[in-house]
Amino acid sequence: MKVKMELVANSGIFITVGDSTILLDGIFGENSFFSQPVGEMQKAVFGMASKYKDIDYLVFTHRHIDHFSSMYLDEYISNNEVKKVYIPRLGQITNSLEDKRALLSLTSIKKVEEYYIPFGECHKEELTQNCTLTYFRSVHMGGREYQDTRHYTIMITIEEKNYIFAADADYMMKNFQDSKEISNLAAVFINPLFFTNAKGQNVLDHLKPETVVIYHIPFQDEDKMGLRKLVARDILKYRDKPYKIIALTEKDQLI
Ligand SMILES: [Zn+2]
Repeated sequence: MKVKMELVANSGIFITVGDSTILLDGIFGENSFFSQPVGEMQKAVFGMASKYKDIDYLVFTHRHIDHFSSMYLDEYISNNEVKKVYIPRLGQITNSLEDKRALLSLTSIKKVEEYYIPFGECHKEELTQNCTLTYFRSVHMGGREYQDTRHYTIMITIEEKNYIFAADADYMMKNFQDSKEISNLAAVFINPLFFTNAKGQNVLDHLKPETVVIYHIPFQDEDKMGLRKLVARDILKYRDKPYKIIALTEKDQLI
């Protein structure tokens, strides 16, 4: 089966599995620190011809505005053929960076599952033949201020191979306690702050993935925090690690 994974922007990953398509954290809004919505995605959002038109499954790890936009998602679902959408259900306590707006259009509501599972449990379901979605709760990084953010780690399994998308999960070992048993871990996707942290490296040593993919790196002209430099430095620093390292820095970059 043909499998293709490519970067949209931030933690947006576009996956093609045979005839099916999956988008992770790929429809987001204007935000101050990371990359802005990309033109090709916005075309699809508003129903114009685009490589991102009619994606089957849209999955979101959390509702922070650099990962998710309720307004654009609403538009996307109205203008495209979508099978199912997974967005985390908001908690009673929310974070100021979360997009809290409800989806408006009726078509949206029918296709959207606002998912919730408590810490320590995981939910698994088959998306298409030989492709499974698993999600489990994880603590968002950044300490106290972000603790209440409903954040999930996503695992996609394609023909026995596992791919973990950590998004903004904290590097605490507790977040990956149950992932340690996972064999056939083809890749773990983490952000630059996870990769640069000694605790993060500890988690990676335990998980033993074939490849570590660093994503959520702003594009060159949008890199206000100097994350690209940090990533370049850390790749050199950890070059002797047993896993392969890929940094997703450019639009449409393939893994
Ligand atoms: Zn976040």
